Amino acid sequence: MGVRGGGLIEDSDCALCGQCITHCPTGALRERDDTDRVFDALADPDQIVVVQVAPAVRTAWGEPFGLPRERATAQRLVTALKGMGFDYVFDTDFSADLTIMEEASELVEHLKHPEGVQFPMFTSCCPGWVRYCKARHPRFTDQLSTSKSPGQMFGAIAKSYYADLLGVDPHRIFCVEIMPCLAKKSEVDIPVMNDACGDPDVDVSLTVREVDRMIRAEHIDVFSLAETEFDQPLGTATGAGVIFGATGGVMEAALRSAYYMVTGENCDADAFRDVRGLDGWKEASFDIAGTTLRVAVASGLGNAARLLSALEGGEVSYDFVEVMACPGGCSGGGGLPIHDGKELAGVRGDVLWGLDRTAKLRRSYENPSIQAVYRDYLGTPLSERAEKLLHTNQRAWKMPSEA
Ligand code: SF4
Repeated sequence: MGVRGGGLIEDSDCALCGQCITHCPTGALRERDDTDRVFDALADPDQIVVVQVAPAVRTAWGEPFGLPRERATAQRLVTALKGMGFDYVFDTDFSADLTIMEEASELVEHLKHPEGVQFPMFTSCCPGWVRYCKARHPRFTDQLSTSKSPGQMFGAIAKSYYADLLGVDPHRIFCVEIMPCLAKKSEVDIPVMNDACGDPDVDVSLTVREVDRMIRAEHIDVFSLAETEFDQPLGTATGAGVIFGATGGVMEAALRSAYYMVTGENCDADAFRDVRGLDGWKEASFDIAGTTLRVAVASGLGNAARLLSALEGGEVSYDFVEVMACPGGCSGGGGLPIHDGKELAGVRGDVLWGLDRTAKLRRSYENPSIQAVYRDYLGTPLSERAEKLLHTNQRAWKMPSEA
């Protein structure tokens, strides 16, 4: 595909968020199709094919089939994926909780030891935002959290901790992720995302549109699917994990855990709700144990650009900032089903906030599977093993214009 100036998209500094595909007025654009690679892995008896389902996927996968939103549950998608032959179906919400444990710990460390730290700290779970930041505002690159995205953390844990639990060679695990996202296709190919066993931590990233095509290709009748629970232990999550898919969700989830890390007490799970909503640039201040924390949330790269310019101009200052490249966050993601002229990020995001509201556990540190992985494998957040598997150096790879 060509871009401005006659260049190739792979040589450009495109954020790869995919909004051009979901909003192309003539439907002329589409993503690379990786479904054949997944079908080949499913047909290979030597490979253990593990798939993870991202938070926002459960809000939208049933749309092209006309499956009502309340019936298009994550559990029915689990049944469809098992029917296709995936060996284990896990929930990226689990590793979103893991991301929160690491990212909130980073934030608390920065607040405790601010000497030499540049604020704000930025979230880094959106690869479209990370690409944009590195290309257009590189002075902020060192302020990105070093925590990997939930998808990448999942892959690193699947090919280390989970391989150990299964007692198998991690090289036999083929890790697929189902994402609302196009930028993740680029993220899985970052050469340094291979911390578990030397293979890529995630082998293939599929959009929801690709998975829906696979469901059709397998002639699965989505209206007759029963519900199946995620496999364990990487299938247990809290409400904090599920809201990653909506703008403000990462911030809110991180603050729930940061509050506990600072005070040793549970906060009201809705204490940080001021950062919810579809406004493109939101800001709020919260008091945590007598310290005022100034935060901002931006979704959509136009809003991110305005916020970064204001930061550069000294017009605003914050301690912690969440940026998601797609308007409304991942529930408006570039890899979700396309509906001409309709913006569904709000409706889909409401599904996630509803799942959080009714969840038994709403804070990442309460997740028993997260407690187990730290107790049995990682030690503590930011431990040496956690740093190796779950963190990255945002400067260890270059955007095309830096090469
Ligand atoms: Fe991908 Fe979500 Fe970022 Fe959009 S907002 S680029 S879907 S991670």
